[in-house]
Amino acid sequence: MKRPDALITAGPTREPLDPVRFLSNRSSGRMGFALAGAARDVGMRVTLVTGPVHLPPPRGVRVIAVETAREMERAVIRRARGAGLIIMAAAVADYEPAAPSRQKIKKSAATLTLRLRKTPDILAGLGRRKKRGQILVGFAAETNDLIRNARAKLRAKNLDFIAANRVGIRGAGFEAEHNAVTLLARDGTATVFPRTTKARLAARLVRFILKSASRC
Ligand code: C5P
Repeated sequence: MKRPDALITAGPTREPLDPVRFLSNRSSGRMGFALAGAARDVGMRVTLVTGPVHLPPPRGVRVIAVETAREMERAVIRRARGAGLIIMAAAVADYEPAAPSRQKIKKSAATLTLRLRKTPDILAGLGRRKKRGQILVGFAAETNDLIRNARAKLRAKNLDFIAANRVGIRGAGFEAEHNAVTLLARDGTATVFPRTTKARLAARLVRFILKSASRC
């Protein structure tokens, strides 16, 4: 059977405050890059949309570099229609400065208040426009109530799977070489993928997702 094309996102986004400063997060991009490599290894044609990271581009994968959540949204929406599998592993910033300054903000005042506004939820948008047969996968990084919060996101964003990722564990998750996730499926099942390298975990997740989806 021909594999569907895959669209995968990775890394953080950067939301500029002024020409030299930005808001961002600790995502290294490793999980998304590993997923792109794993999808390529099972014979998929892969597009990887990535925020700013320090990783070599995976061989045989089309890489599109973006910076902000809005740029990521444009890049993803444009390519989503043709993708049979979409995995949003990017740690998209939830908020962006409401009015980024065109000039460098001066340090004159003793305190500085930033006004932020929500970024577009790319994954929720994809969930609203989901095509028949398209497999939509999200990640939920949580410090508390991991499974409950992840399940709520799976439903709210109309996903097929969500990889629940506990943050704050030493040696796993953000910035780490290893990771462990619980994969929740739309049908209510939960599958634990124990701690291993992100490359191995990615290979297991991709194979599992494709196999489960082919049974539906
Ligand atoms: O709601 P929360 O941000 O925890 O959801 C995480 C999932 O949603 C991830 O898959 C992430 O890539 C995606 N996301 C998104 N756009 C946002 C925020 C999160 O696509 N603005």
